[in-house]
Amino acid sequence: MSHIDCDICIVGAGSGGLSVAAGAAQMGARVVLIEKGEMGGDCLNSGCVPSKALLAAAKQAHSMTKGAEMGITPVTPEIDFAAVKEHVARSIATIAPVDSQERFEGFGITVIREHARFTSPHEMQAGDTTIKARRFVLATGSRPLVPPIDGIEDTPYLTNETIFGLRERPRHLLVIGGGPIGIEMAQAHRRLGSEVTVIEGAKALGKDDPELAEQLLGRLRAEGIRIEEGAKVTAVSGHEGAITVETEKGRFEGSHLLMAVGRQVVTDGLGLDVAHVKHDRHGITVGEDLRSKTNRRVYAVGDAAGGLMFTHVAGYHAGVIIRSMLFGLPSKAKTAHIPWATYTDPGLAQVGLTEAQAREKHGDALRVIRMAYDENDRAIAEGRTLGTLKLMAVKGRPVGATILGASADELIGVWAIAIASCTKLSKIAGAVLPYPTLGEINKRAAGNYFSASLFDNEWVKTAVRAVQRWIP
Ligand SMILES: Cc1cc2nc3c(=O)[nH]c(=O)nc-3n(C[C@H](O)[C@H](O)[C@H](O)COP(=O)(O)OP(=O)(O)OC[C@H]3O[C@@H](n4cnc5c(N)ncnc54)[C@H](O)[C@@H]3O)c2cc1C
Repeated sequence: MSHIDCDICIVGAGSGGLSVAAGAAQMGARVVLIEKGEMGGDCLNSGCVPSKALLAAAKQAHSMTKGAEMGITPVTPEIDFAAVKEHVARSIATIAPVDSQERFEGFGITVIREHARFTSPHEMQAGDTTIKARRFVLATGSRPLVPPIDGIEDTPYLTNETIFGLRERPRHLLVIGGGPIGIEMAQAHRRLGSEVTVIEGAKALGKDDPELAEQLLGRLRAEGIRIEEGAKVTAVSGHEGAITVETEKGRFEGSHLLMAVGRQVVTDGLGLDVAHVKHDRHGITVGEDLRSKTNRRVYAVGDAAGGLMFTHVAGYHAGVIIRSMLFGLPSKAKTAHIPWATYTDPGLAQVGLTEAQAREKHGDALRVIRMAYDENDRAIAEGRTLGTLKLMAVKGRPVGATILGASADELIGVWAIAIASCTKLSKIAGAVLPYPTLGEINKRAAGNYFSASLFDNEWVKTAVRAVQRWIP
């Protein structure tokens, strides 16, 4: 049995835990990092990285079936599904050293590869080591939520933890859940040659702007994905290669089943009650300061904090609590400026308020500016004209942006920065951007906020005529 005294003990070496550990250790804190599974957590091993690698292969395959309008003869790509999965595995392996035990030990961090649990409000046990710390950070993440559907225990199903390991292409993938994870996996598999049916109990992409989400779903349907909404699942049954999903709208049959209905925060076996840390099914109960009210030594970051579940949120949380833990400064996690994206093709991205939320909050003060991709020269030149930007603005400042279209995930960055820093639209409208770029969509949307009051305005015209008479 060994004993360690430290400043900060972190449980979980995923996006949140690693960010806290690296920051705190490099600023001089004595840090212990405990991880029971793979270094890198969900994002690296079974989330962002493999899903984006799979989508990239799918996009490549899809692009080969297009191009006639540019004079390129489409072909039917030959898809070696196992080799696609090698590409996914290689992407993970290439990034893995950044999250590795060796790298973090290089920062002077003690890394323990065990399950951690509290033994008292100020002490944890991991394997045969006890750790006493001034502060504890719970960065234990989430796992796929599998609801108790009739028959689920006897039916083989995949989750994000297993689907990337599949070496044989599913003949017909049934996806229960039409959120971002289900929809991304649906498009990836469809483009790689599977039949795909998405079964959603309510509205697919229900957290996004309904108008642009509907446009995306239309595009996915046109690619051959069947998307059934309002189809609440009542039972599942079957065996490897022959799965049946019963819903209130009818029965669906396929070869494989992916459960993508949501996420459940991981708190089990942590001994939270022993440490007097309040928690519920949404996660560890924390305030805006990400600190437990029932045990002030304890913080929660990332998915474990029970809010928006994204890697960039986990990284943001790390910065918030480092300020509080290391410097004793007040620090709060906000959500209004947090963007997110669904990495389909075209992509769908959001930051700030949707149109409906902005209308409710700002009423008549709201102006919604729309820019269609088919008005952008680069989008036209590249044949990527499906898409729209909706900019929600109040008193010359952005309060929200929704983008459907090519590179929506990149374009949303400008609005994330603008909303976070309260930047005026005039600054974005006044920026000089390279031509022709998709980024001009953002600039033109900001410009359009002003052009309505500048162009076709009698007062402006009178002023210009008057000035023209006087200046030499
Ligand atoms: C399919 C999929 C695609 C995604 N794509 C994106 C994306 O494109 N962009 C994005 O921003 N987000 C994406 N996400 C979400 C993102 O992966 C998570 O928000 C992020 O990984 C959360 O990081 P975390 O540090 O909170 O938790 P995790 O990364 O889950 O890390 C938690 C770690 O804690 C460990 N742990 C738990 N309990 C204990 C214990 N008692 N003792 C020791 N160790 C413990 C676990 O083993 C795990 O390694 C995706 C998620 C999925 C499922």
